[in-house]
Amino acid sequence: MALPITLIVDDPAPCLNIYWWHQARRSGTSAPEHRPGLPVARHIPLSFLDRFIDVVGRWGVRGKFTVLPYPAGLGPIDVGWPGCPAVELQPWIDRVRCYVMPLMDITPEILTHAQALDLDTLALLPENEREWSAHQDAATLTPYISLALQLLARVGLPATGVTSPWDFGIQVEGEYQTAIRQSMQSVQAQHQNWYFLHSDTRGTQLRSQVVWRQGDAWLVSLWAQVDDFCWATMGTPATEAGYVAAVADQYLTADGRGRLADLFAAGTPMVMVTHWQSLFADGRHTGLAVIDEVARRVAATWGEQVRWTSCSQLAAGVAAGEWDCPAH
Ligand SMILES: [Zn+2]
Repeated sequence: MALPITLIVDDPAPCLNIYWWHQARRSGTSAPEHRPGLPVARHIPLSFLDRFIDVVGRWGVRGKFTVLPYPAGLGPIDVGWPGCPAVELQPWIDRVRCYVMPLMDITPEILTHAQALDLDTLALLPENEREWSAHQDAATLTPYISLALQLLARVGLPATGVTSPWDFGIQVEGEYQTAIRQSMQSVQAQHQNWYFLHSDTRGTQLRSQVVWRQGDAWLVSLWAQVDDFCWATMGTPATEAGYVAAVADQYLTADGRGRLADLFAAGTPMVMVTHWQSLFADGRHTGLAVIDEVARRVAATWGEQVRWTSCSQLAAGVAAGEWDCPAH
């Protein structure tokens, strides 16, 4: 049976680069830089989504694609916000629905991936979502997740699972799991669910696991097992082919070594994670060029021995025990 490979893409939103908002807040400036002279782009244009669609379409890359439902706390995705022109917002959503969703699951990364929202007033709270999550329980997390799912459903992008911004929910994970199940059940009528929170980028044992099961209902915690090597492309102006090849080598060298090869040798599904901003690389598209090259090498090295798989398909395989070790 072909071994699954999947690509988790965190942080996409129409018009904006959520990482700019993180760095602007952290540095207290409106001109954040990766390092002196290398600014963080504030805007990720619609044309970059087209380049991404070209790459995933070329190789049949499957996985998960976040859509932030209320990005940076600026406004809901079904209405928009100042600074995101209507000529860009609706085409972005339409392209994701028509060209990304057939290949990749859509998830929220909870509402803002910035400061938490007060659900009653829609005012921004002083804490970001990660800090806020640490003192919540299922009763407060369920409506929060439900609103994220509702906003995506309203624009025709129904979610199949939930992505955690940063390590959202990690300190109250049992409550968080209950809230994910309850909100997916009530908004999506879906009782077989998955979420992404954890990573293990060193071990080669499969870490994705069923964390709750009742009858044919289940919840799978899907773990990333490959680092976002593309992240480094934001910290350098380099874009030449040799640099792209060197970053791609960390995933898979042309002669079949690297993190993906280690997982392949162990028979462990290859769960990669990257970020919208690391693919965009502030307009240089270096990370996207890396993923293009890695997907080419995956096809050249393994052909039919691996299969690009969406995260929900992979979760279903985990729930069915497809990669469990036999008892001995
Ligand atoms: Zn994120």
